[in-house]
Amino acid sequence: MLTTPKPQHVLQRPHIFSMDNNIEVKIEDTVVYKYNKEDNLYDFFVKDNNVKCTNYNQTYGIPQWEDISKHLESESAFLDWVQKEYPEILKVPRFCPRCSYPLGDPDCEHIVRCNRQECRRNHGGNQYKQSVWKGSFFDGFRGGKHKLMEFLYHWLIGGTNKSIGLHSGWSRVKVQRWEQAVRDLVATVVKEDHQMIGGEGVVVEIDESKFGKRKYNKGHRVEGAWVFGGVELTPDRKCFAVVVPDRKRETLLPIIKAHIKPGSIIRSDFWKAYDIIPFEKGFDYVHEKVNHSKHYVDPETAVHTNTIEGTWHGIKRQTPVRRRNRKDIQRCLFEFIWRRRNSGNLWNGLMRALEEVEYLEDEKPKQTQSKSKQAKAADKAKKGCVVGIKKEE
Ligand SMILES: [Zn+2]
Repeated sequence: MLTTPKPQHVLQRPHIFSMDNNIEVKIEDTVVYKYNKEDNLYDFFVKDNNVKCTNYNQTYGIPQWEDISKHLESESAFLDWVQKEYPEILKVPRFCPRCSYPLGDPDCEHIVRCNRQECRRNHGGNQYKQSVWKGSFFDGFRGGKHKLMEFLYHWLIGGTNKSIGLHSGWSRVKVQRWEQAVRDLVATVVKEDHQMIGGEGVVVEIDESKFGKRKYNKGHRVEGAWVFGGVELTPDRKCFAVVVPDRKRETLLPIIKAHIKPGSIIRSDFWKAYDIIPFEKGFDYVHEKVNHSKHYVDPETAVHTNTIEGTWHGIKRQTPVRRRNRKDIQRCLFEFIWRRRNSGNLWNGLMRALEEVEYLEDEKPKQTQSKSKQAKAADKAKKGCVVGIKKEE
């Protein structure tokens, strides 16, 4: 009887080899560990061949394009859908701010008005009117708002700037601008919804990682930023990550306290800044250490920090090298955390963010500014980049 040969792991384990003098790679089963001696950087990569993904939409919690696109045929169709399904996305008041009279429904140009004669008379014949999109994420987008929703869908499913640009016909600058806007949107939600991780007996791995940026690919590291973070060893893999100026004890300890619940078991490497953890006043943590320079997994205690290294790998993969400066990294980190928090339910997460955040008017550009600067400032105002939090009702 003939049998089909089973696929075998080509690489035997454990296997250590060097690609160059500074990089050490170790492969165990489907896990690849990479250690850069020069920069003391670790990478950790899981070949996820075993994960069977039968339906991506179900996995990520994003409706099929077929179901979304029918609501995006025109701005009016989109508005109808928003009013019915996600009315909180619209921030325009329901009552006239002048006379408290209920405002009418949006007209064909999507403007709401106060139809009270008295209100108009009291304001010199001026009727109160406002775009229905005022104060929403869609405010300031030129063109049909349904097109911006289409962009958001593509951003959510992880489309690249290139694929989004090709699909929408938008310029690279326009794609980048709105990508930044949606990152700011989710960052606002993550910041406001400040979550602490860990808890009594929960293991939290902490680590710092350098997000390097190479100049002209000649191996000379410039700029980049240190990022300090932690991840829970729970199925949720809750995490935090912040850009830090350095890896000093004074810098890292307050962040630990702000993000990790007392009673947690903190795992770290032997970085000297962490030695104080068991002794620091007001710190109620168990501290376990793993020596990275000797082992990836401490053979005696089986303590490892693979999870945080895997998290770094995930974040780095999502952070293009050109974005590895402090400001952009923070944005990418917030996006990563937001996506992880909403994993399996990304669509609802995005809709909730659109509902929760209100966009406030930017300051008017000063008259003294030159024309080009003024135009730029006006553009900025249009983009609605001032993010505010919706007032309590
Ligand atoms: Zn009125």
